[in-house]
Amino acid sequence: MTIVDTPERRQLRELTRSFVTREVLPHLSDWERAGEVPRSLHETAAKIGLLGIGFPESVGGSGGDLLDSMVVTEEIIRSGGSSGLVAALFTHGIALPHMVETQDEGLIGKYVRPALAGTMIGALAITEPDGGSDVAGIRTCAVRDGDHYVVNGSKTYITSGVRADFVTTAVCTEFPGSGSVSLLVIDKGTPGFTVGRRLEKLGWHCSDTAELSFVDVRVPVTSRVGPEDTGFLAIMQQFANERLSLATQAYATAQRCVDLAVQWCRDRQTFGRPLVGRQVVRHKLAEMHSRTDAARAYVHDVAERVAAGQPVVTEVAMAKNVAVATCDWVVDAALQLHGGFGYMRDAEVERHYRDARLLGIGGGTTEIMNEIIAKGMGL
Ligand SMILES: Cc1cc2nc3c(=O)[nH]c(=O)nc-3n(C[C@H](O)[C@H](O)[C@H](O)COP(=O)(O)OP(=O)(O)OC[C@H]3O[C@@H](n4cnc5c(N)ncnc54)[C@H](O)[C@@H]3O)c2cc1C
Repeated sequence: MTIVDTPERRQLRELTRSFVTREVLPHLSDWERAGEVPRSLHETAAKIGLLGIGFPESVGGSGGDLLDSMVVTEEIIRSGGSSGLVAALFTHGIALPHMVETQDEGLIGKYVRPALAGTMIGALAITEPDGGSDVAGIRTCAVRDGDHYVVNGSKTYITSGVRADFVTTAVCTEFPGSGSVSLLVIDKGTPGFTVGRRLEKLGWHCSDTAELSFVDVRVPVTSRVGPEDTGFLAIMQQFANERLSLATQAYATAQRCVDLAVQWCRDRQTFGRPLVGRQVVRHKLAEMHSRTDAARAYVHDVAERVAAGQPVVTEVAMAKNVAVATCDWVVDAALQLHGGFGYMRDAEVERHYRDARLLGIGGGTTEIMNEIIAKGMGL
């Protein structure tokens, strides 16, 4: 029995699988076309305790830790969901943790509890049109005016930004690019805050992505998450969970593509034999399976160390890169084994191929992970 295979986690898998089968699979294609998942899905997931996994019960969550959240992600994708669906439904996983960490009852009551109950949707806005990798260089500024901040700037590529009721927003509290980063929670409907374009994307179609604009937006000081200038550290601390979630999406997508490819190769006949009857095909499937298993084992190992509170920044970056590289290779191989059908919208593997491309970009790119790894090596 592995750490993610305890009786409780088997139950969690079962719960997730039945949720996906009942509530997601009949509608996923429609949501992909609509460009978003319905708000009602959040409430349904909350009612069965799925939305709050990984958040303490004291703030309205369902309890559990990082590994439990990973089990949910694994099972959503294994059951026929997608990384895009995980991104859309669990955006609160990146929008809330900084607030939970501060134990600010005002913010927890106003945003954390409703989001975990599925009645509010949150987003996290760090990336700006001028650049996303350099978090300390953000240019959206908040200038103090009495008991408010006045915010000016813009954000882009924000997951759930179209639907979000509130946005945990990274702002600089000195001058643009100063590195003095703070987090402010900004409500939809605040004068001067507008959601610009809904962005069209290669993949993650059921996950809405937006540009946000802030023109003289007055935000109460009480909406600041933690003390001024602590935003950069808070963002970096939470990156571990986000990166491991993306790593999980990567090996889980790879696993789903292995499963789909095995089934396809058993069923598909060419030259009078099933594809799986050819040694070259069997060896390809064997390599896909081996690489996926190795990536999963490594990500699990690093996640256990994160959950135990060990300082493993370098290992988290390596886990993300290893899982993403595995996923890229496996989805490409799976699509190739599907032949022409693999290129069709009707093929599930086609969606995974497009969705997977994001995993080496979001939450810190592969190159930024390599920077962290090189630093960890003392280079
Ligand atoms: C679908 C989607 C959803 C997203 N959701 C969110 C969200 O919810 N919230 C949010 O804040 N952001 C979100 N992002 C933004 C994402 O985090 C950024 O795109 C990412 O961090 C990269 O930033 P950038 O696009 O500005 O690229 P840039 O920083 O401009 O980088 C461009 C290229 O240069 C490389 N590069 C940059 N610096 C270096 C360096 N020092 N050395 C070597 N190479 C370098 C990068 O790796 C990349 O390949 C999302 C993006 C996408 C596509």
